[in-house]
Amino acid sequence: MQITDTIWQVGGDSMTAPGDAAIYLIAFDDTAALIDAGCGQGHGKLIQNISRYVPAETKIEYLFLTHCHFDHVGGAESIRRHFGCKIVAHERDAEYLESGDSMVTAARWYNAYLEPLPVDYKMSAAEETFRIGNGEIRAFHCPGHSPGSLVCVTEVPGKKILFGQDVHGPLHPELLSNRTDYIHSLKFLLSLEADILCEGHCGVYKGKKEVRDFISSFIQ
Ligand SMILES: [Zn+2]
Ligand SMILES: [Zn+2]
Repeated sequence: MQITDTIWQVGGDSMTAPGDAAIYLIAFDDTAALIDAGCGQGHGKLIQNISRYVPAETKIEYLFLTHCHFDHVGGAESIRRHFGCKIVAHERDAEYLESGDSMVTAARWYNAYLEPLPVDYKMSAAEETFRIGNGEIRAFHCPGHSPGSLVCVTEVPGKKILFGQDVHGPLHPELLSNRTDYIHSLKFLLSLEADILCEGHCGVYKGKKEVRDFISSFIQ
């Protein structure tokens, strides 16, 4: 599904495998990045979808994991093996990925088991910029849904696109969610004034007002 000229949704519940969170592809010239990985069951379909949008010689440089939950990370190792990309996650969630913690990563909720997943680049700052081809992705630590949740932002001419993923939550003690952090992060997301919000499960919101209304609906 095309979102802009250079951004597509390439995976998700109805696209790759049931339970998959949305997977997004961002192309910058001959380089690209993926946001999240799904559970992993739909790996073949994901590869097929990616090949429909970018030429085979495109180098997928990074796989950003917005947080450690199984529906976003279960397929990460297969993607890394296939494309040779670097996995990026925030250090506060990387610890649960690297230890294969099936409770905090919610793998148990999916009757699954998370193999310990080494993270190539652990983000520790509140904000970091990744240069990719002729563009960049900015990542921001936005804790609440999980301790190390992050969001990614990129710009195409005239538009700011926010990959907010699990903006809707939920918050749960087993996931080490924190409501105060969550509300703080949602307010930060509002301050970004994005034109397009790519969510993890609820779809893609286009237009500043639509994005603002969706994010605001979770601030109580
Ligand atoms: Zn999710
Ligand atoms: Zn989640």
